Amino acid sequence: MLKKNRIKDLHVKNLSQLVDPHSILHHKEDLLAYDCDGFTIHRHLPKAVVFPQNTKEVSSIVKYCNENDLPFLARGAGTGLSGGAIPLNNEVVISLVKMKRLLSVDYENRRAVVEPGFINLRLTNSISEKGYYYAPDPSSQYCCTIGGNVAENAGGAHCLKYGVTTNHILGLEVVLPNGDVIELGKQGIPDEPGYDLLGLLTGSEGTLGIVTKITVRILKNPEAKQTVLAYFDRVEDGSQAVSDIISAGIVPAALEMMDKTAIEGVEAAAFPVGHPRDIEALLLIEVDGISAGIKEQILRILDVCKKQNVREVKVAESEEERARWWANRKTGFGAMGAISPDYLVQDGVIPRSKLPQVLKQINKISEESGLLIANIFHAGDGNLHPLVLFDARKPGETEKALDAGSACLQVCAEAGGTITGEHGVGIEKKEEMRFVFNEDEIQAQTNIREVFNPKNLLNAGKLFPSPSRCAEVKKEMKKIEYF
Ligand SMILES: Cc1cc2nc3c(=O)[nH]c(=O)nc-3n(C[C@H](O)[C@H](O)[C@H](O)COP(=O)(O)OP(=O)(O)OC[C@H]3O[C@@H](n4cnc5c(N)ncnc54)[C@H](O)[C@@H]3O)c2cc1C
Repeated sequence: MLKKNRIKDLHVKNLSQLVDPHSILHHKEDLLAYDCDGFTIHRHLPKAVVFPQNTKEVSSIVKYCNENDLPFLARGAGTGLSGGAIPLNNEVVISLVKMKRLLSVDYENRRAVVEPGFINLRLTNSISEKGYYYAPDPSSQYCCTIGGNVAENAGGAHCLKYGVTTNHILGLEVVLPNGDVIELGKQGIPDEPGYDLLGLLTGSEGTLGIVTKITVRILKNPEAKQTVLAYFDRVEDGSQAVSDIISAGIVPAALEMMDKTAIEGVEAAAFPVGHPRDIEALLLIEVDGISAGIKEQILRILDVCKKQNVREVKVAESEEERARWWANRKTGFGAMGAISPDYLVQDGVIPRSKLPQVLKQINKISEESGLLIANIFHAGDGNLHPLVLFDARKPGETEKALDAGSACLQVCAEAGGTITGEHGVGIEKKEEMRFVFNEDEIQAQTNIREVFNPKNLLNAGKLFPSPSRCAEVKKEMKKIEYF
């Protein structure tokens, strides 16, 4: 049956005139798909979802919202894991998915210009024939947008050697919260004079402006790459091997780790590769660069693993085998669905040398909470992803999972690390910002938000703890003596 498209809300009616008539959703059943992102614990319905097709439309929607005091936020693919795209305040959601063009590629100067809704992996796929690629590779790269990557300063397995999104952004076009359009990094040349607004906008989690065009750095494919898989009977040995590989002066392109529970998940899901089920940890290590040095690096990695009592270690024999190992790793979060009805991903960062102690503490949190915690993570740069497994249907279990996740972040902070490496703060970790910043440091950051977003209509209630809760949260924070 055809839906009646009569719009009762005046604002929605006015917004619908700023875009193509098929580019607005306002019926409750349509809005349900936009009530959360990858952080599914909180859900709120937006007022409407609009799909602009160009910067001018984004700007006119933002201007309308600003003039009429309507809260609004940007949304890419909605894969964010910290709740950044959740319309907490019944926002008008500005979805960038129709702005999905690759605008230009300049091979000579190694850069490309994309619209914000362009899918991450499509960039590499579009330029690989010419021998180029885009380095930041979040595991969600087959569906997340480069606009969302900029907002979250996304990382990925290969960011250990090549750096996270911010290291690959050369220019941005941004619609400010009053609808004005500015260009940052106009010439696409790094290190422009003046304040580093490009750096400020990247990772600002959609609270300072809406990105409508992005100039990224593209890289030449490495001449050679090789991948090693190593199985360990003790987590401590695997963790020590991580430190030893880096201390040996090798900078792998990627250095990933999974523990026993995580292995159980990936082997039960869509891309099993036959990992032994009785090992405690595995490492997936990739080196790349010019062909000449690769063999020697592999031999040194094998040697480090052997010194750390590796049970079995092998080098991928073909591109097909390497691709299978990576598919198994990159679908690791979703694979948790094969062993648990629900999971909560955490995203702490620690100094690499603290890996064994921190993993022990996470194990302790798991025992105390009675919830299994799987670990799949970028071990090389100390970016942990404890996955707290729970069943939301059981009363109280969601709260228990949230507490366990928060305790994991407290452990990371107390180990000298921080509360997010790549997934952002969003609403999920905003109270945990207190683990790493004091009042003045938080105030300095919210002052910046107020300069860009004085009416706080753009993505309000994200990233920073609510002032009224600060004192309370401090009081509530359990004193945990981990170190
Ligand atoms: C299975 C899975 C694996 C993942 N693996 C990784 C990983 O390895 N590394 C990693 O870093 N992340 C990972 N993520 C998290 C997520 O994919 C990233 O944070 C990604 O960058 C979000 O992009 P998106 O297009 O989905 O953005 P959304 O979820 O739609 O939005 C995220 C935030 O960005 C803002 N935003 C979106 N577009 C714009 C824009 N154009 N301008 C301004 N603000 C904007 C939104 O308001 C929101 O605050 C994973 C997620 C899943 C589900």
